[in-house]
Amino acid sequence: MSTNNALANAGENAGANAALAELALNNITDGVLIIDSNGIIKMANPAALAMLGQKSTSDMVGLDFSLVIKLENSEGMPLEGESNPLVMAAHNNTAFSSRDLLLASVNAERQMGIAINLIPTGGAHEDRIITFRDITKELEEEGAQMEFVSTASHEMRTPVASIEGYLALALNPQTATIDARAQQYLMQAHQASQHLGRLFRDLLDVTKLDDGKLKPRFIPVEIVKLVKELADEHIPMIEKHHLKYSFGTPDEVINETPRRVDQVVYGAVDIDFLREILDNLIENAVKYTKEGGAIWVNARGDGEKILINVTDTGIGIAPDDLNHIFQKFYRADNSQTRTIGGTGLGLYLVKTRAEAMGGRVWAESSFGEGTTFYVSLPRISEEEYNKRKLVLENEAMAAKQVQPPPVAPVASATPTAPVAPAAPTTPVAPPVAPVTQPQPQVQPPTPINNQPQGEIK
Ligand code: ADP
Repeated sequence: MSTNNALANAGENAGANAALAELALNNITDGVLIIDSNGIIKMANPAALAMLGQKSTSDMVGLDFSLVIKLENSEGMPLEGESNPLVMAAHNNTAFSSRDLLLASVNAERQMGIAINLIPTGGAHEDRIITFRDITKELEEEGAQMEFVSTASHEMRTPVASIEGYLALALNPQTATIDARAQQYLMQAHQASQHLGRLFRDLLDVTKLDDGKLKPRFIPVEIVKLVKELADEHIPMIEKHHLKYSFGTPDEVINETPRRVDQVVYGAVDIDFLREILDNLIENAVKYTKEGGAIWVNARGDGEKILINVTDTGIGIAPDDLNHIFQKFYRADNSQTRTIGGTGLGLYLVKTRAEAMGGRVWAESSFGEGTTFYVSLPRISEEEYNKRKLVLENEAMAAKQVQPPPVAPVASATPTAPVAPAAPTTPVAPPVAPVTQPQPQVQPPTPINNQPQGEIK
């Protein structure tokens, strides 16, 4: 083939490819924009025009993309300047992807939920591609699904708690007499109902956290003291399983010469979230550690971070499983774990709660030897802690002042004194495990003895 023919063929191929690319761009339902390094629109496909409520490409080409793609956060607050992650990604030439933003375009009639991506095509001076897709319907369906799971879990928790309570009564020699075989069956039924109760509780928490209904309420705290208080609540349960417990570092446990760890570290956390995180990690440590083993918990600070760890000398986690344990419903499947009950939701909840507080969580493990779970959280200075405490105190005082004056009691013919319930001969209301526990009191900081240990990731 002559050079001229080859060039002509290559030209024809390039032309055909360009025509095909144009055909695809004109017909796909995703909006596509190409912007230059200054954010100026160079190209928009018909789907982008339709979603942005624009009439023609010429209306858009040459405009700054942030003038036509108006983004809002999931609460409908406009994202301007540095708070707009798409603008920042375009500016920094970094990839960006989100399903949590709303599009409120200039002319479009409605706000829509979108899946949006920014893809750099090369260096800082090269173009960027923005793609976006209307996912309003998808989000509605996901929301309805989540609502269903949430309602179903909530509705099912009450009867399950009742079954669990009655089974506990049947198994209690003080409240029931049953033969050994029946006791064995009922014990299994009791365990299964406890598992079901835990599953519904976890499912409810997952749906509430996933759809953003459960938001952290940040309280300034002295973290080492708080973590110790929350962890120490588990001592009876840990001892019941014949495990050693210590608050401090591994060395302290190994040498059995506990040293006081009274480093003062401040943070702003949701106490219920932190309690749930520690409950989950410590319950797991107990569950996956054989009798005679040890569990230790520690909290310390380093630079900008707080680092909490829950360590055990248990069965450990195989490297293949370690990458997946924070996923919803993931349970390591091996001869050791098969007999241990669980929902596979606990660590997902730990991760979600830690991330909601601006933190992160990870694990290090040696299979057969033990595991350490780390939770890192943002740290605040003593000054910031005092400032936030003052704000909270002032808010509490203001709330007290705006409360309406107490209404004078109306004279009543019927006595209002509480009536002691009659002792039941047959069980009427079975005991139900408390769903929430009282919050611990956070004490003011104690003297400093800084002992940073371990590296914070
Ligand atoms: P589960 O209810 O199954 O315990 P989690 O989400 O809490 O669910 O944990 C996920 C999996 O991670 C568990 O099934 C278990 O295989 C593993 N795992 C969690 N904590 C530990 C631990 N301390 N030691 C060993 N394995 C653990």
